[in-house]
Amino acid sequence: MTVVSDVVVPARAPFSATLQAGQVMRIIDLESQQAVDALFYNAYDTTERYSAQDTLAAEAAAGRKFHLGLGSVLLSNELRPMLTIVADTCGFHDTSAGACSCESNTVRFGHETRFMHSCRENFLAELGKYGMGKRDLVSNVNFFMNVPIRPNGELTVDDGVSKPGGYVDLRAEMDVLVLISNCPQVNNPCNGFNPTPIRIIISE
Ligand SMILES: [Zn+2]
Repeated sequence: MTVVSDVVVPARAPFSATLQAGQVMRIIDLESQQAVDALFYNAYDTTERYSAQDTLAAEAAAGRKFHLGLGSVLLSNELRPMLTIVADTCGFHDTSAGACSCESNTVRFGHETRFMHSCRENFLAELGKYGMGKRDLVSNVNFFMNVPIRPNGELTVDDGVSKPGGYVDLRAEMDVLVLISNCPQVNNPCNGFNPTPIRIIISE
């Protein structure tokens, strides 16, 4: 494989790139326990975008768990494969818990957290570069985020299980616009209470 892009995304920062079909994006959790929130759109028609609901329905039909891992196929709202997880050292990537926002911070952690930086703000800033906005914020993937589902259906954010240098590889099955928020959350354990940089390598 030939590296076409190799970027370190600072703690709390957004990132975006367009993947061509067949290219592989590696997301590296450099220091461990860093949640990486991601949105995916068809690069030529952004009304086609990642669908957590359809992806999880297909995972369940295949007898898989309620989270993403090696072999998972990320489906669009038109039920077409967008990306496939082709390598994974973590084994647990959430796509149920959504992205943090000042609104959810207020509800979960108290009104004084309202003005803390959030993934939703990262996404809105990055979406603006592509002529998109609030209405284009849809369900996302949280790479490296540990969200076990209890037998009673409850969902909690637990300590991350990814190790320093852990990575996940995604192969693009179509030309895909990728938006990433290197999560700035410090009020729950999704980032080990200490947001850290990630590295993103795109190869072909
Ligand atoms: Zn976040």
